[in-house]
Amino acid sequence: MRPSPTSANSRDQHERGASAECKETMTESPRLTSRQRTAQDILGPDKDPHLAEDNPFEAMMARFDHAAELLELDPGMYQVLRMPEKQVIVSVPIERDNGQIEVFTGYRVIHNTSRGPGKGGIRFDTRVTLDEVKALAAWMTWKCGVVNIPFGGAKGGVVCDPTTLSVHELERITRRFTAALLDTLGPESDIPAPDVNTNERVMAWIMDTFSMHQRHPVTAVVTGKPVEMGGSIGRREATGRGCMIATRDALKLLGLPLRGTKLAVQGFGNVGSTAALLLEGEGLTVVAASDVSGAIYNPNGIYVDDAIAWVREHRYLEGYPGAEAIPPDQLFTLDVDVLLPAATENAITRKNAGDIQAKVICEGANGPTTAGADRILEENGVFVIPDILANAGGVTVSYFEWAQDRMGYFWSEDMVNDRLEGIITHAFNDVSGVAKRYKVNMRVAAYMLAIERVAAVHRLRGLYA
Ligand code: NAD
Repeated sequence: MRPSPTSANSRDQHERGASAECKETMTESPRLTSRQRTAQDILGPDKDPHLAEDNPFEAMMARFDHAAELLELDPGMYQVLRMPEKQVIVSVPIERDNGQIEVFTGYRVIHNTSRGPGKGGIRFDTRVTLDEVKALAAWMTWKCGVVNIPFGGAKGGVVCDPTTLSVHELERITRRFTAALLDTLGPESDIPAPDVNTNERVMAWIMDTFSMHQRHPVTAVVTGKPVEMGGSIGRREATGRGCMIATRDALKLLGLPLRGTKLAVQGFGNVGSTAALLLEGEGLTVVAASDVSGAIYNPNGIYVDDAIAWVREHRYLEGYPGAEAIPPDQLFTLDVDVLLPAATENAITRKNAGDIQAKVICEGANGPTTAGADRILEENGVFVIPDILANAGGVTVSYFEWAQDRMGYFWSEDMVNDRLEGIITHAFNDVSGVAKRYKVNMRVAAYMLAIERVAAVHRLRGLYA
C-alpha cells in the first residue's frame, strides 16, 4: 500500500530531522582533509546552496511601485514603506579548525515592525549582500501582510561558503552572529527562521545562544526549530501545504476540476515535493518534475511518494525509472494545467512566458517570475498565484510556532493544518476580492492588500516624536 501524504512527510521529517543529521551517514567532504563533517553535510539534505535571488530588489520594487501608484499612496507613506527601519552590519570573527582567525560579515535588516516583530530567515551564502537582505526583508513585510499575521518583515545573512566550513565552524559562526545581534533579536522584536543554507540545527544554536544570555530558555526567539525543542508540528510541510491550498482555491475560482488536472513541478525539494504529494492527494496528476539534476516526464502520471523515496535514496531525480528524462526547460512549456515553480528565482522570464500552456501558476519559490514575464502571462490569461501568497504557508506556521512557544502549549497536527488552511484560504479570498475590485491581477492585488494593511497601521499609530 502506498503511504499517505502524512506518513510520508513524517517519515521524511524523521529522516531529515536534526537528530537524524547527527548519524554516521554523513559523507566526508573532499575539501577538508581532516575527519570533520562539513557544514554542508548537515545543511545539504535540507537546502540547495545555489538558491538565492540575484536581483530581488528590482523585482520587489517594480511590484511595490506599481501597487503603491494604484493605491495612490501619499509620498510620505511611500518613503516610510520603502525604507527599512534598521540595518545592522556585524563582524563575525571565529577561530577556524586550523587555529587561524577569520572574520565574516553578517547582516540583519528589519524592514518594518508596525504590525508586529520582524520575521524573516537567515541565510549563509557567498552571495549575500546588504541590498539583497534589504529587499528580502521588505518581501517578508508584504508576505506577512497578505496573510494578515502580526509580524513585520526582517531578513539576515552571513557572507560565507558553508561547503568550506566544518560543522563546528558553522556553529561558531552562528553563535557569534547571534551574540552580535542580541540587541536586535527577541520574541517581541525580531524572530529569525531558516533560509538558504540554514536549517533546524542552526535555529537550535541561535535559540541556545540567545537563551544562555537571557539565563532562561527562550524558545520563541526563532522558528523552524526541531519539534523536540519547541518547533511546530507541520512547519516542515507548511509551505508546500500552503501551495496546495492556494492551488485548490484557484482551480475552484476558475471552475476547473481537481481530478485529472495535470501538474508540472520545478524543484523537488521541501516545497515542491510536499506540494506535489498533497496535490496528488487532491486528485491532480503530477506529470513532470525537476531538480538540479534534470527533469522527468510521464504523461500518465508520476507516483509522487515513489519519486520522493527515490530522491531520498539517490539524492536526485536523475535516473528515476518511472518517467523519461526531458530537457529541464521543456517542463515549463508542457501541456499541463498547473505549473508550480518551487526552485529558484527568475525561472519564468520573457523568453519562456509566452510558451507556457498552464492555466494556473502557483509560485512556490520566491521570485520565480520576472516583472517582464508578468505582462506576457497576464496577456495570455494565465492565473498566477503570487509568491507572497502562494508560499506564505511557511511563515504562517512559523507564526503558529511562535504562538505555541509563548503559550507553552502545543497543538496537534490537525489543528495546525486546519488553521493554516483557514488563513491561506482567507488570504486567497481577500486577494482575489481586491483583484476583482481594482481589475488587476493577483500579484498586484496581493501587493496592494499588503501595502494597505501596513500603511493603515502606520496611520493609526502615527509618527513617534
Ligand atoms: P530545497 O533546497 O529543499 O529544494 C530546492 C529544490 O530545487 C531542490 O530539489 C533542487 O534540486 C531544486 N533546484 C535547484 N535549482 C534548480 C533548477 N535550476 N532547476 C530545477 N530544480 C532546481 O528548498 P525549498 O525549501 O524547497 O525552497 C524552494 C523555494 O521555495 C526557494 O525559492 C525558497 O526560497 C522558497 N521558499 C521556501 C520556504 C520553505 O519553508 N522551505 C518558504 C518560502 C519560500
